[in-house]
Amino acid sequence: MSGQYAPRAETVVDLDALRHNVALLAERAQVPVMAVVKADGYGHGAVPIAKAALEAGATWLGSASATEAVDLRKAGIEAPILAWLYAPGEDLSDAVAAGVDLGVSSVDELRAADGARLHLKIDTGLNRNGCSPEDWPELVKAARDHDVHAIWSHLASADEPGNPSIDRQAGRFDEAYEIAVAEGLQPIRHLANSAATLTRPDLAYDMVRVGIAMYGLNPVPQHEDLRPVMTFRSSVVSTKRTPAGEGVSYGHTWVADRDTTLALVPVGYADGVPRGLSGRFEVSLAGQRRPVVGRVCMDQIVVDCGDDPVSPGDEVILFGPGAHGEPTAREWADKLGTIDYEIVTNMYRPRVRRRYV
Ligand code: PLP
Repeated sequence: MSGQYAPRAETVVDLDALRHNVALLAERAQVPVMAVVKADGYGHGAVPIAKAALEAGATWLGSASATEAVDLRKAGIEAPILAWLYAPGEDLSDAVAAGVDLGVSSVDELRAADGARLHLKIDTGLNRNGCSPEDWPELVKAARDHDVHAIWSHLASADEPGNPSIDRQAGRFDEAYEIAVAEGLQPIRHLANSAATLTRPDLAYDMVRVGIAMYGLNPVPQHEDLRPVMTFRSSVVSTKRTPAGEGVSYGHTWVADRDTTLALVPVGYADGVPRGLSGRFEVSLAGQRRPVVGRVCMDQIVVDCGDDPVSPGDEVILFGPGAHGEPTAREWADKLGTIDYEIVTNMYRPRVRRRYV
């Protein structure tokens, strides 16, 4: 191994898996696909993800902030990009100059986005951003002499197939469209996220906006041939034989009940291993699942290996696709009472190197 660079922690991003997922989603949707690459591509790296998604058949990109969108342009990406979240008074001129499409939820935003191609957002029931149905006719009227490309909305509970809010939102969306058409607009429509793309093809309209499923994480209970894109890995830096009765890590929350070998892995909560997992998670070390014992520290965790031979340099998988028995991001999310979106997005951090394969 001498001479090889051994990173202390890295996320390995499988672009073939991403391309597979994009192709699957495009096939399901049967309409153009917007690849959502906000938050640095859900922690996977916005630019490489955007390029791979476009290669695999996506034709649009979606980002939250205008800055994220401009960064994609600076990286040489020419595909249409929609950005939809900005602060009151934010200067959007860079985004306009870069040819970024802007989502607009109010007459004020319409003015701020002057010069851009627009996607008017109707709030059909998520009650987050988007124009309320009461203000919609006024927004549509004000937008008549602008370049309106689309109307759009976002679903609250698409990950619960059968939830009545889905059809209620779709109904309000259709009404908003009728109002826009009556005012002489001819917009395309987009509503579906990943979950709706997978479970409600009838709501694909003219484009779908997919995020989480493209990263291989399934937002719905039904089986899908999605391939998780991110693996979080590290390696053992040292091992230590420890006698029964010794406590491990801060607070000695775990005490060895037998003589055992402990392996030190140089990742901690500063690297995306939540401290809330302390005492209740495992890693795959040299291909075998083993418990992480004691508290997660800022830079380190300790793995109990019993009497098995382990050595510095042995590979440690924190989470990955799960195909070889390793933990998954979903497993972490379930333990932490959160969603796997948060687990992978949390890997957007400078201490963890990214490697694309
Ligand atoms: N559309 C909008 C407006 C979003 O904010 C998001 C992400 O939250 C998406 C689409 C993609 O959602 P998902 O990752 O569930 O596919």
